[in-house]
Amino acid sequence: MSDFNSVIAFIKEQHNNKDFTPLHAPVFNGNEKKYLLDTIDSTFVSSVGAYVDRFEEMMCSVAQTEKAVAVVNGTAAIQVALRLVGVKPGDEVITQALTFIATVNAIVYNGATPVFVDVDLDTMGLSPKALEAFLVENAELREDGAYNKKTGKKISACLPMHTFGFPVHLDELLTVCNNWKITLVEDAAESLGSMYKGRPTGSIGKLGAFSFNGNKIVTSGGGGTIVTNDIELGIKGKYLTTTAKVPHPYEFVHDEMGYNFRMPNLNAALACAQLEQLDGFLEDKRKLAKEYQSFFAGKGINFRTETPDTKANYWLMCVELENRQERDLFLNDTNKNGVMTRPIWQLMFRLPMYAHCQKDAQQNALFLEERIINIPSSVR
Ligand SMILES: *Cc1c(COP(=O)(O)O)cnc(C)c1O
Repeated sequence: MSDFNSVIAFIKEQHNNKDFTPLHAPVFNGNEKKYLLDTIDSTFVSSVGAYVDRFEEMMCSVAQTEKAVAVVNGTAAIQVALRLVGVKPGDEVITQALTFIATVNAIVYNGATPVFVDVDLDTMGLSPKALEAFLVENAELREDGAYNKKTGKKISACLPMHTFGFPVHLDELLTVCNNWKITLVEDAAESLGSMYKGRPTGSIGKLGAFSFNGNKIVTSGGGGTIVTNDIELGIKGKYLTTTAKVPHPYEFVHDEMGYNFRMPNLNAALACAQLEQLDGFLEDKRKLAKEYQSFFAGKGINFRTETPDTKANYWLMCVELENRQERDLFLNDTNKNGVMTRPIWQLMFRLPMYAHCQKDAQQNALFLEERIINIPSSVR
């Protein structure tokens, strides 16, 4: 195929035939203005306010976790989640090279080194088989955890990412991680509302991290949340992200190096209004995904769908082209004609600052890197 006119026409039709169809635009049809005005009228726009508490309660219910800690962005949520599970300077953290840069930066902010293990073709997220193979070849299990035989460093966490909202094979990853005494933390930044065997993504690892950036399924302008069923870790997370302050009637006492990562009340107000609409957003995206699926099936293009036992949030939908040449034609044709499409990320080890990181063969990541394209996925 060398001509994507019918694809362009179909995508425009699904998005009300606007001159320009973005990849993902936020929708503000709920209580956004009301709640935002509330915060201004109350003067509580910043680090204190009722919306932060309300948003954290809502997140506990959406993620089905005991605790939720609202923070400034998803990157900070991952960074602190890793610190909470004991990732220390000099450690290693296993993740996928097929991800957004924030996953990897959050590891390095802790002074740890990323190690890249391949993804599965079906989920586009970290592969349990590849993880097991990597550990068998490169790691040794000691009393206090897994150590990399090549570098001598401790492998203290595993950080899979649910690519575009498609859940990874969590049970299998957990089995491998448990066998090797490695803690699993979920980068669920893209998968708010996605389910794995009936449970929300983010709630299955020791901790999970969500993002509420402007391009995500639900936005707070900027924001993130750490979720966990470990109440003590949740409390510690709140404390660390609010300058590690020891309660005192008037003195400033801080007994650990903390962060000013608290989500402002203004952002939490927007987040509450958006989160109220999550079910509707999920429903509309699912409908669009169905329409795309049947359309692309008729064109011989592989529209990516959720795997068995999972429910994807269809945050960013994507197609898989036959090869790089077809991919480039698709990208050129659509973008030239007012339909925004984007290739999947370059693999992280191509970036200068992560080129030195240890990695396996990356066969599936390399395959997907050449073929996956995101297509417009906004709620209509
Ligand atoms: C969006 C995103 C993040 C980070 O979120 P921010 O809120 O932008 O900091 C982290 N990981 C992945 C995979 C993301 O897509």
